[in-house]
Amino acid sequence: MAGKRDYYETLGVNRNASDNEIKANYRKLAMKYHPDRNPGDKEAEEKFKEAAEAYEVLRDPQKRNLYDQYGHQGLEGSGFSGFGGFEDIFSSFGDIFEEFFGFGSGRRSRGRGQKGADLRYDMTLTFMDAAFGKETEINVQKMEACPECNGTMCEPGTQVETCSHCGGTGQVSRTQGFFTVRTTCPGCRGRGQSVPHPCNSCRGVGKIRTSKRVFVKIPAGVDSGSRLRLTGEGEPGAYSGPPGDLYVFIRVETHEFFERHNTNIVCQIPISFVQAALGARIDVPTLKGDKTLEIPKGTQPGDVFHFYGEGIPSLRNGKRGDQLIQVEVKTPTNLTKRQESILREFARLEEGKLTNKLKNMFRSGMAKAAKG
Ligand SMILES: [Zn+2]
Ligand SMILES: [Zn+2]
Repeated sequence: MAGKRDYYETLGVNRNASDNEIKANYRKLAMKYHPDRNPGDKEAEEKFKEAAEAYEVLRDPQKRNLYDQYGHQGLEGSGFSGFGGFEDIFSSFGDIFEEFFGFGSGRRSRGRGQKGADLRYDMTLTFMDAAFGKETEINVQKMEACPECNGTMCEPGTQVETCSHCGGTGQVSRTQGFFTVRTTCPGCRGRGQSVPHPCNSCRGVGKIRTSKRVFVKIPAGVDSGSRLRLTGEGEPGAYSGPPGDLYVFIRVETHEFFERHNTNIVCQIPISFVQAALGARIDVPTLKGDKTLEIPKGTQPGDVFHFYGEGIPSLRNGKRGDQLIQVEVKTPTNLTKRQESILREFARLEEGKLTNKLKNMFRSGMAKAAKG
Protein backbone atom coordinates (compact mmCIF):
# COMPACT_ATOMS: atom_id res chain seq x y z
CA MET A 1 0.00 0.00 0.00
CA ALA A 2 3.03 2.21 -0.26
CA GLY A 3 2.80 5.46 -2.12
CA LYS A 4 -0.88 6.01 -1.46
CA ARG A 5 -2.05 9.53 -1.06
CA ASP A 6 -3.31 10.69 2.28
CA TYR A 7 -7.08 10.20 2.37
CA TYR A 8 -7.75 13.60 3.89
CA GLU A 9 -5.61 15.23 1.24
CA THR A 10 -7.43 13.26 -1.47
CA LEU A 11 -10.75 14.63 -0.30
CA GLY A 12 -9.34 18.08 0.40
CA VAL A 13 -10.41 18.21 4.03
CA ASN A 14 -8.44 18.62 7.23
CA ARG A 15 -7.97 15.85 9.75
CA ASN A 16 -10.75 16.89 12.06
CA ALA A 17 -13.27 17.47 9.29
CA SER A 18 -16.85 16.58 10.21
CA ASP A 19 -18.74 13.76 8.50
CA ASN A 20 -20.72 16.36 6.60
CA GLU A 21 -17.64 18.14 5.27
CA ILE A 22 -16.17 14.82 4.17
CA LYS A 23 -19.38 13.83 2.47
CA ALA A 24 -19.76 17.21 0.77
CA ASN A 25 -16.21 17.18 -0.58
CA TYR A 26 -16.52 13.60 -1.74
CA ARG A 27 -19.75 14.50 -3.50
CA LYS A 28 -17.99 17.31 -5.39
CA LEU A 29 -15.16 15.03 -6.50
CA ALA A 30 -17.46 12.16 -7.41
CA MET A 31 -19.59 14.49 -9.53
CA LYS A 32 -16.53 15.89 -11.25
CA TYR A 33 -14.83 12.58 -12.01
CA HIS A 34 -17.88 10.37 -12.44
CA PRO A 35 -17.21 7.92 -15.32
CA ASP A 36 -20.52 8.80 -16.97
CA ARG A 37 -19.29 12.37 -17.33
CA ASN A 38 -15.76 11.50 -18.36
CA PRO A 39 -16.07 8.54 -20.70
CA GLY A 40 -12.71 7.02 -21.56
CA ASP A 41 -10.74 9.47 -19.42
CA LYS A 42 -8.18 7.36 -17.54
CA GLU A 43 -7.06 10.14 -15.25
CA ALA A 44 -10.62 10.96 -14.21
CA GLU A 45 -11.17 7.27 -13.61
CA GLU A 46 -8.18 7.10 -11.27
CA LYS A 47 -9.29 10.22 -9.41
CA PHE A 48 -12.78 8.82 -9.09
CA LYS A 49 -11.49 5.57 -7.62
CA GLU A 50 -9.07 7.35 -5.32
CA ALA A 51 -11.82 9.59 -3.94
CA ALA A 52 -14.16 6.64 -3.49
CA GLU A 53 -11.55 4.74 -1.53
CA ALA A 54 -10.77 7.73 0.70
CA TYR A 55 -14.45 8.26 1.34
CA GLU A 56 -15.10 4.59 2.05
CA VAL A 57 -12.58 4.83 4.87
CA LEU A 58 -13.31 8.27 6.28
CA ARG A 59 -17.08 7.87 6.38
CA ASP A 60 -16.78 4.81 8.61
CA PRO A 61 -15.83 5.83 12.18
CA GLN A 62 -14.01 2.53 12.84
CA LYS A 63 -11.99 2.65 9.64
CA ARG A 64 -11.31 6.35 10.08
CA ASN A 65 -10.05 5.73 13.58
CA LEU A 66 -7.76 2.95 12.35
CA TYR A 67 -6.49 5.16 9.59
CA ASP A 68 -5.89 8.09 11.97
CA GLN A 69 -3.90 5.90 14.30
CA TYR A 70 -1.98 3.70 11.92
CA GLY A 71 -2.29 5.22 8.44
CA HIS A 72 -2.74 3.07 5.37
CA GLN A 73 -1.09 0.16 7.12
CA GLY A 74 -3.72 0.21 9.82
CA LEU A 75 -6.30 -0.75 7.24
CA GLU A 76 -4.35 -3.73 6.00
CA GLY A 77 -5.61 -6.82 7.68
CA SER A 78 -8.80 -5.01 8.59
CA GLY A 79 -10.21 -6.50 5.41
CA PHE A 80 -10.18 -3.24 3.51
CA SER A 81 -7.90 -3.12 0.54
CA GLY A 82 -9.44 -0.50 -1.67
CA PHE A 83 -11.71 -1.14 -4.60
CA GLY A 84 -11.11 -3.46 -7.49
CA GLY A 85 -13.12 -1.45 -9.97
CA PHE A 86 -16.28 0.48 -10.61
CA GLU A 87 -18.54 -2.44 -9.79
CA ASP A 88 -17.11 -2.49 -6.28
CA ILE A 89 -17.54 1.23 -5.89
CA PHE A 90 -21.10 1.21 -7.09
CA SER A 91 -22.11 -1.78 -5.06
CA SER A 92 -20.66 -0.08 -2.00
CA PHE A 93 -22.05 3.37 -2.64
CA GLY A 94 -25.26 2.66 -4.51
CA ASP A 95 -27.41 4.60 -2.13
CA ILE A 96 -25.06 7.53 -2.00
CA PHE A 97 -24.88 7.87 -5.77
CA GLU A 98 -28.60 7.81 -5.90
CA GLU A 99 -28.74 10.52 -3.31
CA PHE A 100 -26.01 12.53 -5.03
CA PHE A 101 -27.10 12.22 -8.60
CA GLY A 102 -30.71 11.30 -8.31
CA PHE A 103 -30.04 8.18 -10.32
CA GLY A 104 -28.66 4.80 -9.58
CA SER A 105 -26.22 5.04 -12.48
CA GLY A 106 -27.62 1.83 -13.87
CA ARG A 107 -24.60 -0.13 -12.73
CA ARG A 108 -25.95 -1.10 -9.41
CA SER A 109 -27.48 -4.52 -9.15
CA ARG A 110 -30.74 -4.18 -7.35
CA GLY A 111 -31.84 -6.49 -4.55
CA ARG A 112 -28.29 -7.42 -3.60
CA GLY A 113 -28.26 -7.86 0.17
CA GLN A 114 -26.62 -5.48 2.59
CA LYS A 115 -23.57 -6.67 4.46
CA GLY A 116 -24.02 -6.67 8.24
CA ALA A 117 -22.15 -4.20 10.42
CA ASP A 118 -18.69 -5.02 11.77
CA LEU A 119 -18.29 -5.45 15.51
CA ARG A 120 -15.46 -4.57 17.85
CA TYR A 121 -14.37 -6.52 20.90
CA ASP A 122 -11.57 -5.27 23.17
CA MET A 123 -9.43 -7.98 24.74
CA THR A 124 -6.70 -7.64 27.35
CA LEU A 125 -4.03 -10.34 27.38
CA THR A 126 -1.25 -11.13 29.82
CA PHE A 127 2.30 -10.75 28.53
CA MET A 128 2.73 -14.53 28.46
CA ASP A 129 -0.56 -15.19 26.61
CA ALA A 130 0.54 -12.72 23.96
CA ALA A 131 3.93 -14.42 23.70
CA PHE A 132 2.58 -17.96 23.43
CA GLY A 133 -0.87 -17.42 21.92
CA LYS A 134 -4.09 -18.63 23.42
CA GLU A 135 -7.37 -20.22 22.51
CA THR A 136 -10.35 -18.76 24.26
CA GLU A 137 -14.05 -18.03 24.00
CA ILE A 138 -15.59 -14.60 24.23
CA ASN A 139 -19.16 -13.43 24.70
CA VAL A 140 -20.21 -11.12 21.93
CA GLN A 141 -23.38 -9.07 22.12
CA LYS A 142 -24.83 -8.94 18.66
CA MET A 143 -27.91 -9.11 16.53
CA GLU A 144 -28.81 -12.49 15.13
CA ALA A 145 -31.34 -13.55 12.58
CA CYS A 146 -34.68 -13.87 14.38
CA PRO A 147 -35.26 -17.60 14.99
CA GLU A 148 -39.02 -17.15 14.60
CA CYS A 149 -38.96 -15.80 11.04
CA ASN A 150 -35.40 -16.85 10.10
CA GLY A 151 -34.59 -13.24 9.39
CA THR A 152 -37.25 -12.92 6.69
CA MET A 153 -39.07 -10.27 8.80
CA CYS A 154 -42.37 -11.92 7.86
CA GLU A 155 -44.77 -13.65 10.23
CA PRO A 156 -44.34 -17.41 9.62
CA GLY A 157 -46.58 -18.49 6.77
CA THR A 158 -46.49 -15.10 5.06
CA GLN A 159 -44.07 -13.65 2.53
CA VAL A 160 -42.64 -10.40 1.30
CA GLU A 161 -44.60 -8.74 -1.48
CA THR A 162 -43.57 -6.61 -4.40
CA CYS A 163 -43.72 -2.98 -3.34
CA SER A 164 -46.92 -1.40 -4.64
CA HIS A 165 -45.35 2.08 -4.73
CA CYS A 166 -42.67 1.29 -7.26
CA GLY A 167 -43.76 -2.04 -8.66
CA GLY A 168 -40.58 -3.64 -7.38
CA THR A 169 -38.07 -1.40 -9.15
CA GLY A 170 -37.07 0.38 -5.93
CA GLN A 171 -37.27 3.76 -7.66
CA VAL A 172 -39.96 6.29 -8.34
CA SER A 173 -39.98 9.05 -10.98
CA ARG A 174 -40.69 12.62 -10.17
CA THR A 175 -40.97 15.49 -12.62
CA GLN A 176 -38.94 18.57 -11.78
CA GLY A 177 -39.26 21.35 -14.32
CA PHE A 178 -38.05 19.88 -17.59
CA PHE A 179 -36.46 16.89 -15.99
CA THR A 180 -37.73 13.60 -14.78
CA VAL A 181 -35.78 12.66 -11.68
CA ARG A 182 -35.71 9.11 -10.41
CA THR A 183 -35.34 8.70 -6.67
CA THR A 184 -35.32 5.87 -4.17
CA CYS A 185 -38.82 4.61 -3.46
CA PRO A 186 -39.93 5.90 -0.06
CA GLY A 187 -42.29 2.95 0.37
CA CYS A 188 -39.61 0.24 0.36
CA ARG A 189 -36.43 2.34 0.63
CA GLY A 190 -35.27 1.01 -2.70
CA ARG A 191 -35.62 -2.68 -1.90
CA GLY A 192 -38.57 -3.23 -4.18
CA GLN A 193 -40.28 -5.36 -1.56
CA SER A 194 -42.58 -4.75 1.35
CA VAL A 195 -43.50 -6.82 4.39
CA PRO A 196 -47.29 -7.00 4.70
CA HIS A 197 -47.29 -9.11 7.89
CA PRO A 198 -44.26 -8.28 10.05
CA CYS A 199 -42.99 -11.06 12.33
CA ASN A 200 -44.41 -10.67 15.82
CA SER A 201 -41.32 -11.92 17.59
CA CYS A 202 -38.90 -9.37 16.11
CA ARG A 203 -41.49 -6.77 15.07
CA GLY A 204 -40.51 -7.16 11.47
CA VAL A 205 -36.86 -6.26 12.03
CA GLY A 206 -35.68 -9.76 11.15
CA LYS A 207 -33.10 -9.86 13.93
CA ILE A 208 -32.90 -9.96 17.70
CA ARG A 209 -30.13 -9.06 20.14
CA THR A 210 -28.35 -12.07 21.59
CA SER A 211 -25.14 -12.94 23.33
CA LYS A 212 -23.06 -15.40 21.38
CA ARG A 213 -19.98 -17.32 22.47
CA VAL A 214 -17.29 -17.01 19.85
CA PHE A 215 -14.16 -19.13 19.76
CA VAL A 216 -11.00 -17.05 19.26
CA LYS A 217 -7.57 -18.42 18.46
CA ILE A 218 -4.98 -15.80 19.35
CA PRO A 219 -1.70 -16.39 17.52
CA ALA A 220 1.58 -16.22 19.43
CA GLY A 221 3.23 -12.84 18.99
CA VAL A 222 0.27 -10.47 19.10
CA ASP A 223 0.98 -7.11 20.68
CA SER A 224 -0.97 -4.10 21.87
CA GLY A 225 -2.67 -2.67 18.80
CA SER A 226 -2.98 -6.04 17.01
CA ARG A 227 -6.38 -6.72 15.53
CA LEU A 228 -7.82 -10.10 14.74
CA ARG A 229 -10.54 -10.39 12.17
CA LEU A 230 -13.19 -13.07 12.59
CA THR A 231 -14.92 -13.21 9.26
CA GLY A 232 -18.68 -13.43 9.42
CA GLU A 233 -18.94 -13.02 13.20
CA GLY A 234 -20.32 -9.48 13.00
CA GLU A 235 -23.93 -8.41 12.74
CA PRO A 236 -26.07 -10.35 10.29
CA GLY A 237 -26.71 -8.84 6.87
CA ALA A 238 -30.05 -7.64 5.65
CA TYR A 239 -31.96 -8.96 2.65
CA SER A 240 -29.84 -12.11 2.62
CA GLY A 241 -26.60 -10.06 2.54
CA PRO A 242 -23.50 -11.55 4.19
CA PRO A 243 -22.81 -10.94 7.88
CA GLY A 244 -20.23 -8.36 8.97
CA ASP A 245 -16.95 -9.24 10.65
CA LEU A 246 -15.84 -9.19 14.25
CA TYR A 247 -12.61 -7.37 15.06
CA VAL A 248 -10.81 -8.28 18.26
CA PHE A 249 -8.59 -5.42 19.39
CA ILE A 250 -5.71 -6.61 21.55
CA ARG A 251 -4.09 -4.87 24.50
CA VAL A 252 -1.19 -6.60 26.21
CA GLU A 253 -0.42 -6.07 29.89
CA THR A 254 3.11 -5.19 30.94
CA HIS A 255 5.28 -7.77 32.68
CA GLU A 256 7.18 -7.12 35.90
CA PHE A 257 10.41 -8.58 34.57
CA PHE A 258 10.26 -8.58 30.75
CA GLU A 259 9.84 -5.58 28.54
CA ARG A 260 8.88 -6.05 24.95
CA HIS A 261 10.40 -4.39 21.87
CA ASN A 262 8.61 -5.89 18.88
CA THR A 263 9.84 -9.49 18.90
CA ASN A 264 12.74 -8.88 21.29
CA ILE A 265 12.34 -8.98 25.03
CA VAL A 266 14.56 -7.02 27.34
CA CYS A 267 15.27 -7.64 31.02
CA GLN A 268 17.55 -6.21 33.68
CA ILE A 269 19.62 -8.54 35.86
CA PRO A 270 21.36 -7.29 39.01
CA ILE A 271 24.87 -8.63 39.62
CA SER A 272 27.39 -7.73 42.30
CA PHE A 273 30.48 -5.74 41.40
CA VAL A 274 32.53 -8.80 42.34
CA GLN A 275 30.63 -10.93 39.78
CA ALA A 276 31.13 -8.16 37.23
CA ALA A 277 34.86 -8.04 37.94
CA LEU A 278 35.58 -11.76 38.20
CA GLY A 279 32.93 -13.15 35.85
CA ALA A 280 30.11 -15.50 36.91
CA ARG A 281 27.46 -17.93 35.81
CA ILE A 282 23.96 -16.74 36.70
CA ASP A 283 20.47 -18.10 36.13
CA VAL A 284 18.30 -15.78 34.07
CA PRO A 285 14.54 -16.27 33.68
CA THR A 286 13.44 -16.68 30.04
CA LEU A 287 9.93 -17.09 28.64
CA LYS A 288 10.44 -20.86 28.95
CA GLY A 289 12.19 -21.07 32.33
CA ASP A 290 15.66 -20.34 33.68
CA LYS A 291 18.75 -20.42 31.48
CA THR A 292 22.38 -20.01 32.49
CA LEU A 293 24.19 -16.88 31.37
CA GLU A 294 27.97 -16.74 31.36
CA ILE A 295 29.14 -13.30 32.42
CA PRO A 296 32.74 -12.62 31.42
CA LYS A 297 35.40 -11.02 33.58
CA GLY A 298 35.39 -7.24 33.50
CA THR A 299 31.70 -6.80 32.68
CA GLN A 300 30.67 -3.15 32.86
CA PRO A 301 27.39 -1.70 34.16
CA GLY A 302 24.84 -1.61 31.35
CA ASP A 303 26.53 -4.32 29.24
CA VAL A 304 23.98 -6.28 27.23
CA PHE A 305 24.04 -10.03 26.61
CA HIS A 306 21.90 -12.01 24.17
CA PHE A 307 19.95 -15.22 24.29
CA TYR A 308 19.35 -15.61 20.59
CA GLY A 309 15.90 -16.89 19.60
CA GLU A 310 14.48 -16.61 23.11
CA GLY A 311 12.19 -13.70 22.26
CA ILE A 312 8.68 -13.59 20.88
CA PRO A 313 7.67 -15.08 17.51
CA SER A 314 6.93 -12.67 14.69
CA LEU A 315 3.30 -12.66 13.57
CA ARG A 316 4.50 -12.41 9.99
CA ASN A 317 6.96 -15.28 9.70
CA GLY A 318 7.04 -16.99 13.10
CA LYS A 319 10.73 -16.15 13.54
CA ARG A 320 11.58 -15.58 17.19
CA GLY A 321 13.29 -12.42 18.39
CA ASP A 322 16.03 -12.43 21.03
CA GLN A 323 16.20 -11.92 24.76
CA LEU A 324 18.47 -9.02 25.69
CA ILE A 325 19.87 -9.12 29.19
CA GLN A 326 21.24 -5.90 30.56
CA VAL A 327 23.32 -6.16 33.72
CA GLU A 328 22.95 -3.76 36.60
CA VAL A 329 26.08 -3.75 38.71
CA LYS A 330 25.18 -3.35 42.39
CA THR A 331 27.49 -1.72 44.89
CA PRO A 332 27.58 -3.76 48.11
CA THR A 333 26.23 -2.25 51.31
CA ASN A 334 26.41 -3.40 54.95
CA LEU A 335 29.92 -4.78 54.59
CA THR A 336 31.38 -6.89 57.38
CA LYS A 337 34.62 -5.70 59.02
CA ARG A 338 36.55 -8.35 57.10
CA GLN A 339 34.99 -7.47 53.72
CA GLU A 340 35.74 -3.83 54.38
CA SER A 341 39.38 -4.42 55.21
CA ILE A 342 39.79 -6.56 52.07
CA LEU A 343 38.29 -3.76 50.01
CA ARG A 344 40.59 -1.20 51.63
CA GLU A 345 43.51 -3.40 50.72
CA PHE A 346 42.13 -3.63 47.17
CA ALA A 347 41.78 0.14 47.09
CA ARG A 348 45.44 0.66 48.08
CA LEU A 349 46.51 -1.61 45.19
CA GLU A 350 44.17 0.17 42.82
CA GLU A 351 45.14 3.70 43.86
CA GLY A 352 48.40 3.79 41.95
CA LYS A 353 46.70 2.58 38.75
CA LEU A 354 43.88 5.08 39.00
CA THR A 355 46.14 8.06 39.75
CA ASN A 356 48.33 7.24 36.74
CA LYS A 357 45.27 6.89 34.54
CA LEU A 358 43.91 10.25 35.67
CA LYS A 359 47.27 11.91 35.10
CA ASN A 360 47.38 10.48 31.56
CA MET A 361 43.85 11.68 30.84
CA PHE A 362 44.71 15.12 32.14
CA ARG A 363 47.87 15.32 30.05
CA SER A 364 46.21 14.27 26.82
CA GLY A 365 43.43 16.79 27.52
CA MET A 366 46.00 19.57 27.95
CA ALA A 367 47.77 18.52 24.77
CA LYS A 368 44.52 18.66 22.81
CA ALA A 369 43.71 22.09 24.27
CA ALA A 370 47.17 23.34 23.28
CA LYS A 371 46.73 22.09 19.70
CA GLY A 372 43.23 23.56 19.37
ZN1 LIG B 1 -38.84 -12.39 13.32
ZN1 LIG C 1 -41.01 0.61 -3.50
